[in-house]
Amino acid sequence: MDFDMLGLAPRLVNVLKEQGITDPTPIQTQAIPHAMNGRDVMGLAQTGSGKTAAFGLPMIHALLKAGVKPNPKTSRGLILAPTRELAKQIADNLTAYTKGTHLKVALVVGGAGIVAQTKRLAGGVDLLVATPGRLIDLLDRRAVRLDETIYLVLDEADQMLDMGFIHALRRIAPLLAKDRQTMMFSATMPKLMGELAGTYLTDAVRVQVNPPGQAVKKINQSVHFVAQAAKTDLLIELLDKHRDELAIVFGRTKHGCEKLYKVLEKKGFAAASIHGNKSQGQRQRALEAFKAGKTRVLVATDVAARGLDIPDVRFVYNYDLPNVAENYVHRIGRTARAGADGSAVALVAPDEMIELKDIEKAMKDTIPVASGREWEIQPGQKKRPNGGGGGRRGGGGGQRSGAPRAAGKPGGGQGKPGGRRRGGGGNRSRGQSAA
Ligand code: AMP
Repeated sequence: MDFDMLGLAPRLVNVLKEQGITDPTPIQTQAIPHAMNGRDVMGLAQTGSGKTAAFGLPMIHALLKAGVKPNPKTSRGLILAPTRELAKQIADNLTAYTKGTHLKVALVVGGAGIVAQTKRLAGGVDLLVATPGRLIDLLDRRAVRLDETIYLVLDEADQMLDMGFIHALRRIAPLLAKDRQTMMFSATMPKLMGELAGTYLTDAVRVQVNPPGQAVKKINQSVHFVAQAAKTDLLIELLDKHRDELAIVFGRTKHGCEKLYKVLEKKGFAAASIHGNKSQGQRQRALEAFKAGKTRVLVATDVAARGLDIPDVRFVYNYDLPNVAENYVHRIGRTARAGADGSAVALVAPDEMIELKDIEKAMKDTIPVASGREWEIQPGQKKRPNGGGGGRRGGGGGQRSGAPRAAGKPGGGQGKPGGRRRGGGGNRSRGQSAA
């Protein structure tokens, strides 16, 4: 199967060929024919599966075929994405796929000048990629209207729900052309998605490449049971073994990520951080440097790292486990992209055991143990509070306040080594890893 067999215009197939894109990925093979037939599509696929082209190519094909010029302050297609970085990545891909055509692609995201964005929209565009907040600003300023928007894509829709964009989406929905084609892509299918799908999709075809919540198989996953206070030392030890490889380290809080990144930098790692406290420019520069291999370790919160397409990431470290199990799947999906191998390593402290259990339940699999012993869940133990606010808990190296545990002292705070030893084996005790 190749792209012209999917019915795409020969000139579009040629543009793809020039970019080395010749064989459709499974989500493209499944979604493109339905999208070309004008059907609404609900796609369950992770970033890295080629979903941008899966929704982008049919829209580009239809726009080229129609040959209609957009009216001022309108866009024929709208792609909504939860983060600025993801939106930029989509816009970059669509710009590459429309190379040599008359189609205009615009990107509107927060943190960038609104005046230039208004100007870009003044003459009308064919494809507008936006984060919901900035789009609403521009709608309020009457810089753009959506009544001629006949193609709509909601990308990483589950993440939009997580990030509370549901109100923004409710405002945007009635402004769109009634007679339109909508595609929704999501890595997971949480219950709330039903509302979103009900609002936006009509008689949608569902296509799916990985069962939701299950990680791609090429990723070698492992878990170290380690006291919170010993995590930074263990991380440094692990990173040190593969200094030349790209690694992303996920932390829970903005503050924690920043602190951890500074520790790593002091230890001589070419590191950078991206999180919500960094300006858009800083985030973009950190990302570019990482993509170019100038920095090797990127410390990030979920919000900043979601959906990013960075080839060659060999290691994903979960310094803190995510509060929401599905985010684990997204995080580890940053590695083993495009057929490469990757490792996902989780550092789990006693008070993260409930998160770990949730993750294993969602994946229907146990993660092999690399070191330490499974902590026992204490009666009444709850999940750690969400790190969203950038407070002082979690993330950073060293001892957390309120948890009387000593580095080197197995078990430290509330957790005790559990009886069950899980597969995969090393025998490092938490005490050793604290050294
Ligand atoms: P995505 O899942 O859309 O973020 O795509 C991940 C990466 O795969 C992007 O860099 C795309 O340019 C690339 N890609 C998309 N489709 C194909 C394909 N059929 N063959 C090779 N690479 C592709």
